[in-house]
Amino acid sequence: MNFSGSFDKNTIGRLVEKSLTKLGEKASPELCFYVGSVVEKLLEEMEADKVKEEMVCAGRHFYNMGFMAGASGNISVRTGSDSILITPSGLNKGSMSSADMLKVNLQGEVIEESVRKPSSEMKMHLASYRHRPDIGAIIHSHPPFATSFAAAGLALDMPVLPEAILILGSVPIVEYGMPSTDEVPEKLIPWLPDHNVFLLANHGALVFGADLKEASHRMETLELYAKVILMARMLGGEKLLSAENLERLKNAFNIR
Ligand code: 13P
Ligand code: ZN
Repeated sequence: MNFSGSFDKNTIGRLVEKSLTKLGEKASPELCFYVGSVVEKLLEEMEADKVKEEMVCAGRHFYNMGFMAGASGNISVRTGSDSILITPSGLNKGSMSSADMLKVNLQGEVIEESVRKPSSEMKMHLASYRHRPDIGAIIHSHPPFATSFAAAGLALDMPVLPEAILILGSVPIVEYGMPSTDEVPEKLIPWLPDHNVFLLANHGALVFGADLKEASHRMETLELYAKVILMARMLGGEKLLSAENLERLKNAFNIR
């Protein structure tokens, strides 16, 4: 994947060569490659700045929603085949700035100098990106209703609301792993191929998305769903969709 879209250094170099030729100038391949590399780097930095801003907004949003109280929660976005941007550890996620975001490679090495430390849950994020090349963003938070299900060890895996089935899929309980240790990715890995939304036992929630927008959408939907199911249980229990209606939904939206 090329972070700056189709404008990689070779494409830019060819554009430079074309433009100079049009002007009647002869451009050396070295010059074209050099200009291509400089412009590519610039485009990457502009794109990274945009993503950092989006992460700041998402942190503020989820803090304001009560999903990331205190210093809880973390967010990451894939920025290349071997790099992600991730939120800093121990900071209030509602009052971060772009400069707080860390760039790390998929081995967890910080590749752009920073005074911050990457999220203590970085191993969970990295294992997820390594096992799921299709995902581009991850959010971990402690939303009160979803976390109540995680605390009670109750999965949200029964077909009740069509929207939840389509947006969340089945939400499993991932066995407890001591936060910030290798135990968390170890318990998570078996669930990775078939799920995008997880309840981390005795901890909180984890969601994946193709991008930050999709991950945010899933996190909000998960919390609403947990709240509805809890209330339905207070009213005598949720009624499951019939097998027939579930089949119709799956066929209509082409899901497994
Ligand atoms: P970090 O601030 O280190 O990302 O930790 C927050 C959290 O929720 C740990 O599980
Ligand atoms: Zn947490």
